Amino acid sequence: MSFDKNTNPLKLHHLVGDMEADYIYTPGVAGDKFFKALRDDEKFLATHCESCNHTYMPPRMYCERCFSKLDKWVEAESTGVVDTYSLAHEDRDGEKLAEPVIVAFIRIDKTDGGIIHQLGGVDHESVKIGMKVKAVLKDKSKRTGGLNDIDHFAPA
Ligand SMILES: [Zn+2]
Repeated sequence: MSFDKNTNPLKLHHLVGDMEADYIYTPGVAGDKFFKALRDDEKFLATHCESCNHTYMPPRMYCERCFSKLDKWVEAESTGVVDTYSLAHEDRDGEKLAEPVIVAFIRIDKTDGGIIHQLGGVDHESVKIGMKVKAVLKDKSKRTGGLNDIDHFAPA
């Protein structure tokens, strides 16, 4: 693992190394509602804390800042911005991929959070931090009520 020394927070940091990408979204009550709205209505729901003016994506039931119960649901956009990304050169079983897969953290518009997902429709040489993307959902008949109902994010 190597870091470039950089004390300017506005400058990008580059990090070469391995990134753990086994993210598990535990559904829970907030997740159930989120995935149901995504599957059935193609809507991205977030929860909003009035006192902190913070909008959670993925939605949470409790504010992690002030600990109040969150029952205000708001509709977020299905668009966002690439905040950071990583290239996956191997699949889950460690087999080398023909083309690297781009896995990105996408800040979702109208929220203060984001989603980690695969990018499509852009190759690893033209992907940029700050790039605007939109969610591409699977065909309705193929949705299962999980994060993979989003097929990928593509340039908007
Ligand atoms: Zn709060």
